[in-house]
This record gives sequence, structure tokens and C-alpha cells, in this order.
Amino acid sequence: MHVVKIKPAREKSALHRHPWLFSGALAPLADTPTSGETVKVLDSSGRFLGWAAWSGESQIRLRFWSFDERETIDRDFFRRRLSRAIQLRAGMDRASDAMRLVNGESDALPGLIVDRYGEVLVLQLLSAGPEAWREVLCDELQALTGARAIYERSDADVRELEGLPLRSGLLRGELPTVTDITEHGLRYRVNVAAGQKTGFYLDQRANRQRIGGLARGADVLNCFCYTGGFSLAALRGDARSVLSVDSSGDALDAARVNLGLNDLSSERAEWVEADVFQYLRLLRDKAQSYDLIVLDPPKFAPTAQHVERASRAYKDINLWAMKLLRPGGHLATFTCSGGMSAELFQKVVAGSAWDAKADMQLIERFTADVDHPVSLNFPEGDYLKGLLLRKV
Ligand code: SAH
Repeated sequence: MHVVKIKPAREKSALHRHPWLFSGALAPLADTPTSGETVKVLDSSGRFLGWAAWSGESQIRLRFWSFDERETIDRDFFRRRLSRAIQLRAGMDRASDAMRLVNGESDALPGLIVDRYGEVLVLQLLSAGPEAWREVLCDELQALTGARAIYERSDADVRELEGLPLRSGLLRGELPTVTDITEHGLRYRVNVAAGQKTGFYLDQRANRQRIGGLARGADVLNCFCYTGGFSLAALRGDARSVLSVDSSGDALDAARVNLGLNDLSSERAEWVEADVFQYLRLLRDKAQSYDLIVLDPPKFAPTAQHVERASRAYKDINLWAMKLLRPGGHLATFTCSGGMSAELFQKVVAGSAWDAKADMQLIERFTADVDHPVSLNFPEGDYLKGLLLRKV
């Protein structure tokens, strides 16, 4: 086993159990471990810090599996960690038969995402560590959950930073012809093979339910609607009309299918394939207005380096949404950018209100739902932030 020493005075984050160490913190090595290999990490005076997975190509060179010297990183270790993550979610399946079972670093399994859609598990291996343990993770997940199929969606761009190829496909069992889930009584068809991310945005579950509750009698505009999550929740909440916008024709087709799976009136729903940035301006030109607007864009700032450009994009869409909002109306606005802090997001949105000459009140803050916990040692995991605002 390779032993990796870190430079003097660089051990603080590991002592605080932050799961990452960057390449700049490491002392020079005689020979290099292979990617995914488990290494022993010591501070500059030789004191044990933890067991970590080596990522040769990534700036995040080490991701800690454990800070306990007595632990061995083997099949039993992964069974214990997976089983703990699953047990921590006991009882959470009342709202839905789909949930995140493993939330990476925050479940002490860096780089591993596991989402359950009914009897199907979708696995994302985002770094070299879990990549090396792929077979073991599959075996243990199947044994622990009795899943009918395990599908891999390791096709996220972050894999490139690890020097890993993008990959997706069936790993175990057989996919059912359709994978339907029921969330708060609404049925959605999830395309685990070709949908975005692992197929569905489970993190917004509680927020869809909350916003559905604000929709009674409202004219609703749902921007970046994907497969219609917020749209269906609003229709079920007795919205008067729901206009949903997305740039993906496939997502809109799936949204129409989802509408058909539920006993909801399709006359009140309109689906538009368009770029939201342009479409908001068009709606303003047509003097349209709404009682409830949802803005749930993709991540504009994957890392802190993109924050400035992302801020301009957030400011723009929020400004136009505020102009389209009727007095007394609600705006639910989100960012899922890891690089954007809650504080900065609120500042940017306040800038939109100023430019739109709109008086807006903050009513509530949104986060990801309870199956997406955030370890306090890993603030980077707190990616989804939202604000519920009301126009005075
Ligand atoms: N609210 C959704 C998830 C939204 S994901 C839910 O609850 O399920 C973000 C969506 O934005 C994706 O469907 C993507 O196709 C869409 N998108 C990205 N850029 C866009 C743009 N410029 N205009 C319109 N839609 C866009």
C-alpha cells in the first residue's frame, strides 16, 4: 500500500474530516499510486490522517473513505457504508417510491450517487475511487436492496476531470419496459437510460409539493420545466393555467406523457419549446402576466470560477420573471450551482428586483429534499438553494 504524506500545516481540513485533499497539499512522492487505489494518508510528522482513494488526474487528488485507522477499505467496509446510507432513509419512502439512496461525500462515500426509481437503481460513479470498486458496489447494492436492475449513468462531465471515460449502460438484471414512479400521489415516467442526470430531479420533490400548494386559481409559468415536475404539481394544486417552457423537445414529450399518466386536465397545460432567456422577453412584449412563476435553471456556475457570468444569467431571468409577476404573485427561484453561495444568490436576486423596480418579500428558503442530506464537514454539498418571493 502506498503511503502519502502531506505538506506541513496542510492537515487542517483532514483533521476537520473534510473529504477532499487537493494536489497542492501533498508532499512529493517517490512513486505514484494507480488511480482509484486506497492509500494511507499521514501528516508531515507521520501522524495518521485517514484512508483515501487516489485520483491521479484530478486536482482533488485524494478523497477520504475513512478517518479511522482501524478500518480496512474492503467489501465489508462498502457494505457497512451502503447499509448505513439506506437505513438512514428508512421511513422516507412515504412521499415517493423514488429516492436518493447514496448522496456521495455527504454519505461518506465520495463520488458515489445512487438513486432508486421503484425497483431500478441508477448508479453514478463520479471519481476514481468508486470507479475502482464498481463491481463490489453493484453486488452489495443488489444484495441490500433486492433491486431488479442496476443501470449506470456515469456520463457526467466531471468524470473527464478524473481522466475517466463517460459511460452508461445496464450493469445488473433487466430494465422494465417503463419505469414509473409515484411522488406525492403524482405519477412520472422516468427515462433512466436517456433522461438528464439519473433520469429525474429527486432533489426538488418537497419543493414541487410546496409550490403545488400555492397554485390554486393561479396562472402559472414554469420555466426550465424538464419533464413537467412543477407543472403537474401546479395542475394538481388547481392552477387555472400552466405554461411550461424548456429548450429540450425530448423533455417536453416526456412531460406530455407524464400529464397523460395522471388524471389532470390537459386543456389547462401548454408546453413550449424555447430558450427561456428569449421567451421571457417575448412574454413581456405580449404584455402577459402570471400569479406564480418557477425558475429552476440548470447549473450556470459548476464551480466558483464561473460565478460572475452565472450571476449575470441569474440576474437576467429573475429580472424578467419579476416584471411578469402580478402584484401579490409568487416567484420560486432556484440555483443548483455549487459555485454560487446562498448569500450571493440572494444578492443577485435582490439586484434583479432593484432593476425590475419590483418590491419583493422573502417568504421561504428552499433546499434539496431530505434524501439529499449535506454533511456539515462538506459545505460544497449544499448545491440546491431556492427562494420563495412575493411581489408586493
Ligand atoms: N424543474 C425540473 C428540473 C429542471 S432541470 C424538475 O423539477 O424536474 C433544467 C432544465 O432546463 C432542463 O430540462 C434543460 O433542458 C432546460 N434548459 C437548459 N437551458 C435552457 C434554456 N436556455 N432555455 C430553456 N430550457 C433550458
